[in-house]
Amino acid sequence: MSFDVNKVRADFPQLTQKIRGKQLVYLDSAATALKPWPVIERIGHFNSYEVANVHRGAHYLADQATNYFEQTREKVRKFINAKETAEIIFTKGTTESVNLVATSWARTNLRAGDEVLITEMEHHANIVPWQLVCEEAGAFLKVAPISDLGELKMDELEKLITEKTRIVAVTHASNHLGTINPIQKITELAHKQGALVFVDGAQMVAYRAVDVQALNADFYAFSGHKIFGPFGIGILYGKRELLEKMPPYQSGGSMISSVTFKLSTFNELPFKFEAGTPNIEAAIALGAALDYVGRFGFSELEKHESEILSYATESLSEIGQLTILGLAANKVPIVSFVIKGFHHSDIAQILDQEAIAVRAGHHCTQPLLRRLLVPGTVRASFSIFNTRADVDRLVTAVKKAKELLL
Ligand SMILES: *Cc1c(COP(=O)(O)O)cnc(C)c1O
Repeated sequence: MSFDVNKVRADFPQLTQKIRGKQLVYLDSAATALKPWPVIERIGHFNSYEVANVHRGAHYLADQATNYFEQTREKVRKFINAKETAEIIFTKGTTESVNLVATSWARTNLRAGDEVLITEMEHHANIVPWQLVCEEAGAFLKVAPISDLGELKMDELEKLITEKTRIVAVTHASNHLGTINPIQKITELAHKQGALVFVDGAQMVAYRAVDVQALNADFYAFSGHKIFGPFGIGILYGKRELLEKMPPYQSGGSMISSVTFKLSTFNELPFKFEAGTPNIEAAIALGAALDYVGRFGFSELEKHESEILSYATESLSEIGQLTILGLAANKVPIVSFVIKGFHHSDIAQILDQEAIAVRAGHHCTQPLLRRLLVPGTVRASFSIFNTRADVDRLVTAVKKAKELLL
């Protein structure tokens, strides 16, 4: 299907709204993506006609729900080109996926004196779980630095991966700077030292085709709600040989193969990591979201989004005292900025008066802000439905904010 932004906009009912009498401009897709009709309708249809629990059913609807649920797993496998569906685990989201690996993997693998390497641009979700397991094991959390443009310093990163490094946890794309990291190169460096690589794909999956086998990632995580899917569903991919050796993360129903009061044995992959009733409607609707993205193909999407990114970068740069943080050569369409002498929250508040939805603050990357020496930024993040007109509205509103706040 060829890409027509006006047709795409018609898929997102939220965009038809006026906020305070003004047409909504949604520039907060990095926080959560809007949902297109096929996803909204899939949730409604499931809840109207198809409700049943999965995997233990003895009736038609239970079998049907199980089939749709497992079909989504296969869609996800294909979407990130994993080898097997057994390597695709449903979680609540990226955060739970990180916690699953950090907890379960660390329990059996992390020892005193070991090192875990993260980077300066990580989201709190890819910092705190590692911090906690390092503390518990007596391991060290090391941090790879970034340049002023917001790119990883690869030579420093290489030096930080040593024979003590057990895992490198790195974001594929920064939710604050937009930087796309060279994951393939990082897995190469890590594997040479016998370290694993966990990739936080929360921002990347909506913008670029991801191939976990080509990346040679050991683990890869993302959230449904950032790729036009529902809240409460996420994915953890892991290589089978690693997942096989990891103990359960949570326990209870579904994840067992047999239970006695003395001893329980665990189900096979992926069910070993899926205790309890999953978010079935969200999983099935995530399948609809992946189908929706698949209609366009990433080369079309990338073309549209990089054009908007360049236009936004150029237009915002022309505003006096405005500095864009994050000017990496390879970026997803996220522009974070500060204006000297103005507070990020004040600017966002005036943008909100103009019905422009952005985010202001630390964007769950407080250590990165300390590195950048700013208390917070305004972040505009773009998606497939954004236009140059949206950028123009943003620029006009930022100029207005400067005048009003002076
Ligand atoms: C949003 C985000 C997360 C956390 O995702 P949740 O859906 O809140 O679990 C982690 N990392 C990055 C880079 C993100 O953008």
